[in-house]
Amino acid sequence: MKKWIILLCIALISSVIVPNSHVEASGNFQDIGDSHRAVTEISYLVNKNIINGVTSTHFVPDREVTRGEAAAMIGRSLGLNGTKRDTGFKDVGAGNMASGYIVELVNKKVISGYSDGTFRPNAKLNRGEMAILINRAFNLGGTNSSNSAQILMDKGIAQGMTDGSFGTNVTIIRSDFAVFLARTLNADFRVQSGDTSIFKTTQYVNVGSTTLNMRSKPQITNSPSNVIAKLTHGQAVSVASYTGNWAYIKVNNLKGYVDKSYLQSKKPSAVLPAPPPAAGNDITVIIDPGHGGSDPGADGFGFLEKNVVLNVGNHMKAYFDKTAIQVKMTRTGDTFPSLTQRAQFAGKYGGDLFVSIHANAFNNSANGQESFYYSSRAATNPYTNQSKALSIYMLGRMQEAWPLVNRGVKEGNLAVLRQNTVPATLVEMGFIDSATDIKYIQSETHRKNMGRALFLATLDYYYHYEGRTDLAQYYSVAGSSPSKRLH
Ligand SMILES: [Zn+2]
Repeated sequence: MKKWIILLCIALISSVIVPNSHVEASGNFQDIGDSHRAVTEISYLVNKNIINGVTSTHFVPDREVTRGEAAAMIGRSLGLNGTKRDTGFKDVGAGNMASGYIVELVNKKVISGYSDGTFRPNAKLNRGEMAILINRAFNLGGTNSSNSAQILMDKGIAQGMTDGSFGTNVTIIRSDFAVFLARTLNADFRVQSGDTSIFKTTQYVNVGSTTLNMRSKPQITNSPSNVIAKLTHGQAVSVASYTGNWAYIKVNNLKGYVDKSYLQSKKPSAVLPAPPPAAGNDITVIIDPGHGGSDPGADGFGFLEKNVVLNVGNHMKAYFDKTAIQVKMTRTGDTFPSLTQRAQFAGKYGGDLFVSIHANAFNNSANGQESFYYSSRAATNPYTNQSKALSIYMLGRMQEAWPLVNRGVKEGNLAVLRQNTVPATLVEMGFIDSATDIKYIQSETHRKNMGRALFLATLDYYYHYEGRTDLAQYYSVAGSSPSKRLH
């Protein structure tokens, strides 16, 4: 194998087994395990090249921090020029690893030497001195060990000792210094004493039908205790900040980390199961505008029955077109299907219900509305009860639409009813040669209202007679609701 291929293979394998260099950085230290209380903060600082191990394999967390080490760590945190150089202090040579940072920090008046011309780089730092250093370096406002300590505690950077004091004269160890420095640099790490103000941004979980692990640390470990909650799709969380791929969040009173790629600012739409079939898409209503073509039907006041019934039929269809219920018309133009063709139409085209629309005429001497069904049990149409109920609901809605004389629901030996194969009705919406009824028949607004009535009556039949409560939603299409039970 060529050398570059071997290198490529190593690179690929490394990228697979080391998914997150952030995590790996702390793993280099044999004395900082996943459960070490400062592992996250040390990882953070190592990643930023602010802190190193004492050796490549050991961090030595309990070793006390010297003034020289503190200067180097703070100097690197501030991004100062650490080039080694002469310091002017008789005990810090140009070769001292912290010499450059000591010079820079002295110039910034963050740290100072002693009156005898020494800096004492190997002297142990105590907590009070640390508080002043951090306050000065990051302009937190403290001027002495007392108020500097208070500021660090107020900000959640440091906590007091168990005896209630700050422990000003207690020397500080490397792991504690790392924790305080990380908290200073990144509010994520700070201790929150009831102060939730850092969790300012509302985001929403978008995980579809799975759940999002919320973790105690910004890293994936095999330890089950790292997962402190499982968040669900659409759940709102409050975000304080982002570190790499992680968001530091608060949910209820729980704080922790989640993969930020599963958060978004807009509430995601709900993950719904597949929608059920649209209500009524199993039903096909046959609309039969009477007459047509060479057969004008009745006439009066210049109006022909064949035209007004087609118009009403089209209005009726328009309401059904706003639902999932199917509609087929025996004619859509000025044509004349035979009565047998109309009666066989439902059987031929999968219809479930038949509504024939007509207008009456009787020598200008009659008026009103009626509906018909075929009552004798014909060989081809056994749906007598259904047809009668349908006719009842039709006339109910027709009376609601146009306040004309109620001539009743009647039995009628009519071919389109007798020869039909589905529940069937024939409606006479009014007398076209009646001076009373023509006021409605001649009006487009009233004809549309009649189309609406025939639509609603069909729903009423299915709702009450067939128990199709799933169709109740469609009454809103016509701004209505189910009729009283009439059959
Ligand atoms: Zn007719």
